[in-house]
Amino acid sequence: QARKGGVGSVQVYTHQMAEEMRRRTQIEQALRKAIAAEEIEAHFQPIVDIRTGAIQGFECLARWTDPDLGPISPGVFIPLAEQANIIDSLTKLLFVKALETAKAWPSDVFLSFNLSSLQLMDPMTGLAVLAMLSKSDFNPRRVEIEITETGIMSDPETAQRIIDEMRAVGIKVLLDDFGTGQSSLGRLRDFSFDKLKIDRSFVSSLGEDPQAEHIISAILYMCKALKLDVIAEGIETAEQAEKLVELGCTTGQGFHFGRPADAQTTLSYFRDAAPQSTAPLI
Ligand code: C2E
Ligand code: MG
Ligand code: MG
Ligand code: MG
Repeated sequence: QARKGGVGSVQVYTHQMAEEMRRRTQIEQALRKAIAAEEIEAHFQPIVDIRTGAIQGFECLARWTDPDLGPISPGVFIPLAEQANIIDSLTKLLFVKALETAKAWPSDVFLSFNLSSLQLMDPMTGLAVLAMLSKSDFNPRRVEIEITETGIMSDPETAQRIIDEMRAVGIKVLLDDFGTGQSSLGRLRDFSFDKLKIDRSFVSSLGEDPQAEHIISAILYMCKALKLDVIAEGIETAEQAEKLVELGCTTGQGFHFGRPADAQTTLSYFRDAAPQSTAPLI
């Protein structure tokens, strides 16, 4: 009987795999269409001074809702776009949209933009980013590019060249999700970053796990010595925010301060703040 069950589970397994394949193909086709129709949207999450809540910048996060398939998370469609070799057109579309939105922000507010691992293996990526910036006439000093360690590892030399090309024009380069995956301190020595983003897994354990606090303290200490700015990601509660300030971290993002929202919403942050200066005195 056990044997029968075993065979059965193999059949279920292959059926699931076939089902999975079918769904992937379906999503991929829909994604190609969505990119062509420019239906992938740029949403933005505020990056703030944790002490005051003042907005310093926004991270652009890709959003896609297919009419038939519903909302699909970037954790699904970004890797798919990489595999299907359409990540460049997706990035281009998003970056142009993001820059258009960012132009309407106050001039000291920066735009943070994620590049995928695959793009750090493509020698043309640096030039492509610079070309889009100059076409949009957007100040490169207001742009931060987020990359991950996975992205650097496959082809470190190409990644380094891309980082150098971007930094040469004043773009800041940020190491995302620090502390997870293939983290190596050697990477901080070998590559030139301007900022580092502490992964949300450490922030979410704050207050529950004393180890998380020690690790964050150590990262902050190290970054100070290396003259790297630090952003804490995934701040969900006031307690986590307070703890971070206590530890000496001043910049962060997370649901506690603001969820990713559409372009229109980012503009309202500044309009809502405006009456102070523009309202009549009496
Ligand atoms: P990431 O770059 O580390 O982005 C942060 C993720 O954490 C986002 O998920 C964001 O919505 C989520 N997040 C922010 N604050 C909180 C919080 O307080 N609690 C929790 N639980 N989550 C929070 P999202 O938008 O689903 O994106 C997932 C990943 O997909 C991103 O991780 C990034 O690696 C990738 N991604 C998203 N948009 C793009 C894009 O335009 N291009 C590329 N290459 N990758 C993207
Ligand atoms: Mg990011
Ligand atoms: Mg991140
Ligand atoms: Mg993360």
